[in-house]
Amino acid sequence: MDTYFGDGNRNNDSDPNNEEFISWINWFCELKGNEFFCVVDREFIADEFNLTGLSSMVSFYHYALELILDVDAHCGSENGSGGSSTPPLTEEQQRLVESSAETLYGLIHARFITTNRGLKMMEDKFANCDFGTCPRVFCGGQAVLPVGQSDVVRESSVKLFCPKCEDIYYPRSSRHKSLDGAFWGTTFPHLLLLQMRDNPSKTIPKPVQRYVPRIYGFRVRQPGTFVENEENGMSDIKSEDRLSKATNKENLETNASKGTNQEDVKVGNSKTSGG
Ligand SMILES: [Zn+2]
Repeated sequence: MDTYFGDGNRNNDSDPNNEEFISWINWFCELKGNEFFCVVDREFIADEFNLTGLSSMVSFYHYALELILDVDAHCGSENGSGGSSTPPLTEEQQRLVESSAETLYGLIHARFITTNRGLKMMEDKFANCDFGTCPRVFCGGQAVLPVGQSDVVRESSVKLFCPKCEDIYYPRSSRHKSLDGAFWGTTFPHLLLLQMRDNPSKTIPKPVQRYVPRIYGFRVRQPGTFVENEENGMSDIKSEDRLSKATNKENLETNASKGTNQEDVKVGNSKTSGG
């Protein structure tokens, strides 16, 4: 595991104005594999209100927080700044603190990226394709956003959400595959996209094309479509008519679940009319 050597570069303890100073946060975000993280403002972390409830979620919480904020107490130096109440640690404990600091930073990060400032920073990364692009052919290289399937640590790894096809994918890099999804959370990408929707220039259009499986040029019918059409004698026109009459929620849900069938029918129509 990577170890933070930022302290060694400092001539003057904890002086962020020193040119050689590398903060733990910058060091962590620049590590290979941590490209999905943004640099959380120190002010955000220093505000205890933003950390409510996190102390019970990570071991060595205070040491981990001091490490993140570059407070020297965890190294055993007696400079009386801040956490002088924390005694020096053994090498093994130090390793645990480093691991806890990464988890703690991830959990703070998940909260930060849903603030206005965090959303702006992540939007810039999104615009820069820092999270990669959708692997689906008909999404045409749409930039994706990191998302968690759970807000609880160690439940699932980070996934990538495509705002065009609205599906999630495994990251391509094995380093990214091992990142905890809770460090981005279940809310972040949808909150960002909701905000972006207010700006017409940032609206992401839905995909216009979908892949149609064919055998020797003939579209492969889904078993459900065939049975339904056979039993109900449902014509293409009737099917579309039914869609237009879907007014209540139940109908909309039913149609959504049968979206594939309707798409097939439409494709069939256009093919017939086209030649
Ligand atoms: Zn996509």
